[in-house]
Amino acid sequence: MYLTIQGIVLRVTDYNDRDALLTLLTRRHGKLTVKARGLRRKNSPLIAPCQLLAYGEFTLFEYKGQYTINEAQSIELFLPLRRDLTRLSLGTYFAQVSEVLSQEDLPNPELQSLLLNCLYALSKLGLPEEKVKAVFELRAACLSGYTPDLFGCHVCGNQNPDRFDLSAGQLECRNCRSGESQGIRLPVTPAILEAMRYICLCDPKKLFSFQVGPDTQKQLAELTEAYLSTQLERGFSTLDFYKSLLI
Ligand SMILES: [Zn+2]
Repeated sequence: MYLTIQGIVLRVTDYNDRDALLTLLTRRHGKLTVKARGLRRKNSPLIAPCQLLAYGEFTLFEYKGQYTINEAQSIELFLPLRRDLTRLSLGTYFAQVSEVLSQEDLPNPELQSLLLNCLYALSKLGLPEEKVKAVFELRAACLSGYTPDLFGCHVCGNQNPDRFDLSAGQLECRNCRSGESQGIRLPVTPAILEAMRYICLCDPKKLFSFQVGPDTQKQLAELTEAYLSTQLERGFSTLDFYKSLLI
């Protein structure tokens, strides 16, 4: 049986000398593992559309639950991203997070749109890396059931508390600190809170339509990174690599 899907390449793994396995993020089928026959041959027509982070249309042949690529065409290769190692490594981190957050046969069109929008923002729009990173991390967390409670301090209701509890995903004033959660609290300013609320609630077409100063942007990206890794209880090798390039 043949089927045609649109997907982003999240990972490429060598299968043998000639073939590779691709992990795709698709709209209708969630995460999908497909075999790319002959990908390692010099003249393979699959080379461009099967690159990491490429977005393409794939015609697949399905037999007993195994998918093999019959034909593939690139829709968007994000070429400016491929010419900038730092941005490329950030995009690779987004792909690794997407792989962790998606499941086989469980459609997640919002996550695919988020990843595409963030790759586009890094590549074509040239937006600041910290801004795109914060949007991706926080919004990906929200789409995966880890939406933080940002209404106000969970004890007194104050709209602008000064702490964010990473493991409970809630706000707290310094003086309201309760013993219920032993989690790490990070300081938040009203500007950080405003940006977080925007990212969690905005229209998906306006993900980047907020303004923050450079200091707020840096703190925001640190906070969203710590929040996502605390919620998922893991680190990411691709994030470590990205950060090693910034030193
Ligand atoms: Zn309070």
